[in-house]
Amino acid sequence: MSIDRRDFLGLLAAGGAALAWPLPARARPWRTGSGPDTLLAWDSPREGAFVMADPNTGGNVLALVGKRGVLVVDSKFPCYGRALRLDAMALADTNAVTLLNTHHHGDHTGGNAAFEGDPVYAHELAIPRIATQLPRYVQGARGGPGMVSQSGGSEALLALATEAAKGAGELSVEDFTPTHAIAVDGMSVDYGGSEVKTRHFGAGHTDNDVVVVSRGHNLVHTGDLVFSGLNPYFDPGGGVTAIGWLASLEKTHALCDEDTIVVPGHGPVGDRSIITAQMNYLSGLINAVRADIDAGVSKDEAVAKTHPFMEGLGFEQVRGRAIGAVYDELGGG
Ligand SMILES: [Zn+2]
Repeated sequence: MSIDRRDFLGLLAAGGAALAWPLPARARPWRTGSGPDTLLAWDSPREGAFVMADPNTGGNVLALVGKRGVLVVDSKFPCYGRALRLDAMALADTNAVTLLNTHHHGDHTGGNAAFEGDPVYAHELAIPRIATQLPRYVQGARGGPGMVSQSGGSEALLALATEAAKGAGELSVEDFTPTHAIAVDGMSVDYGGSEVKTRHFGAGHTDNDVVVVSRGHNLVHTGDLVFSGLNPYFDPGGGVTAIGWLASLEKTHALCDEDTIVVPGHGPVGDRSIITAQMNYLSGLINAVRADIDAGVSKDEAVAKTHPFMEGLGFEQVRGRAIGAVYDELGGG
């Protein structure tokens, strides 16, 4: 499926129909975890850690099996919330579910309503932003059956999405709002006797990015600080800053060793080299735009350009948006 830039931005805003973009050849480098039948396709990069990284369903989701519970990181679009919660319970054989949102964007928080009654964590700056997104969650829930059909979802998944669509009119802000705020620079989160650390390094992809670190699994979920194999999405309304993003990535990289599993916000799971690749992209972008500003290139001309570090990456529709945002950030606008 190809979509133009305006359509793509509309989809992101609405949490609407399915997105598709080319993935690198090694899109599924990990064995599929053996375990119970699930509604969605999960990979298991490490014992007790499951990742659902189908790019057509929203941001990547991680399920970590704890001693007496399961931690779910992010909740994709509204139509996938129920399936994610049911799958996490099956994978961990527990009813004790904790949800954590890496940031406020609708493709990471849309399924929150399915976690009613569970502890739900997000950065304190994410919570008021999530509270403003009810219209797009409702719209996303209504469009869920179409999204599941387009992405080739099963009958069972379609039935859950249809049920969610029928209830869309009943949704309220409280259904999506996290119950626990992660304070300024991060905190530990307990999920049934096991623990992850959360870190916030200041504004980057948004002003409320949280990095999730499981020392036990030697695994890091970066949220949308990393788009692996993809051009990154810039959202000026969400507090994006390329310079801050780069600084956050440097600190995230320092949390990893050569064996650390790195789960990006979008794209395939990898190791710390996918963090380095994102840093190279951002520093390339900052340098290219700074050079254009210094040379007197207008914003319109700069936005229309493409650059070598963008070649071969998916999500081509957001390149101009990234350049424009950095042009404004560097004072060229
Ligand atoms: Zn995002």
